[in-house]
Amino acid sequence: MTDRSGSRQKKIGIFGGTLNPIHFGHLRAAEEVHEGLALDQVWFLPAFVPPHKADRNLTSFIHRIRMAELAVEGISHFRVSGLEAERQGPSYSVDTLAELSCRAGEPLRLFFMVGSDAFLEITSWKDYQRLPVLSELVVIARPPDSEQKIAAGIKRMFPDFYPDMDRPGLFLSAQGGRIRIVHSTHLEISSTDIRKRVRSGLSVRFLVPEKVRSYMVINNLYVSSIGRADKQGSDADRPAQALSDMEMLNSILEEIENNKGEDTCVLDMRDISPIADFFVIAQGRSTRHVQGMASKMKKDLSRKGIKCHSVEGEVEGKWILMDFEDIVVHLFYKSVRSFYDLEGLWSEAPRFTPERDRSDHN
Ligand code: ATP
Ligand code: MG
Repeated sequence: MTDRSGSRQKKIGIFGGTLNPIHFGHLRAAEEVHEGLALDQVWFLPAFVPPHKADRNLTSFIHRIRMAELAVEGISHFRVSGLEAERQGPSYSVDTLAELSCRAGEPLRLFFMVGSDAFLEITSWKDYQRLPVLSELVVIARPPDSEQKIAAGIKRMFPDFYPDMDRPGLFLSAQGGRIRIVHSTHLEISSTDIRKRVRSGLSVRFLVPEKVRSYMVINNLYVSSIGRADKQGSDADRPAQALSDMEMLNSILEEIENNKGEDTCVLDMRDISPIADFFVIAQGRSTRHVQGMASKMKKDLSRKGIKCHSVEGEVEGKWILMDFEDIVVHLFYKSVRSFYDLEGLWSEAPRFTPERDRSDHN
């Protein structure tokens, strides 16, 4: 396609997101869209302050962009842009696309890529109707979303769009808008899962590029929500806690019991690993049970002065990790517990019985 001056427009794919961290799921999807739509380049844009995640304990932008840069190193058709940081405030995709499409210099034809999970919630994004006009909106189908479900989503959220009968998967509007559904090799990888694995001592090798993995290790990323590993051996410098570990542990176990958590097990990690003093592992009968248990525990424990620094995995409810710094609680949907098998990974950690140990310590 050429612009009014007759010069060929460069086809640029835009891959946004928190990218906390970037992983092979992102990279492979971008690679396949690059190939399938014959794009010139794909630019990865880590969101500076993602509007949907502004309240979370978010890894700094510098780390996220550096990991993206390492991931694309040596790949000439991939690039990383820090554009969203230049604007400072919340990162709205519509502002980013508007800025890119009217930047002086070479004319660009933009292809904005989103996974179908993100697309199906797009009505909560700022000025979402403008997205497929400022760019071609490329929706990457991700299980469990079928093509029919995505097409129904387009019909509902973008009623002005109609299917192009000659080109399956393409939807057009009279205003020149374009939405396209594409398929790519599904890699069931998520940044949330990567963060939980790191926090639990599980490997993330082959989920992220090796350089990204090394960067995470060197910078101690995701090991703890508040840099616990740095504090090892300096107990004297730690702020006095209102509650001891044992009191916290007992309250947590009581909460799990009250919420009908099953097969609870406490691993004493104190002599095993610096990542936590205790792992509490329990399970729920369904993902809803796990989700309900986590949200109730967070609320009730905070009333008792026990602060949960971060919660990961609430959306799916298959493995929710609640980080209380010295104590990490893992709530599993029961069929998922054996897949991650934290008890097997940490088999050398003594099983801890709070009542007995409390009397030992007193
Ligand atoms: P988190 O678990 O923190 O939500 P994420 O892995 O979903 O992270 P994001 O940064 O939220 O990654 O996603 C950025 C974009 O990448 C979104 O459009 C999302 O749909 C897409 N995406 C995420 N994971 C994959 C994957 N495994 N395959 C294809 N697309 C993906
Ligand atoms: Mg996501």
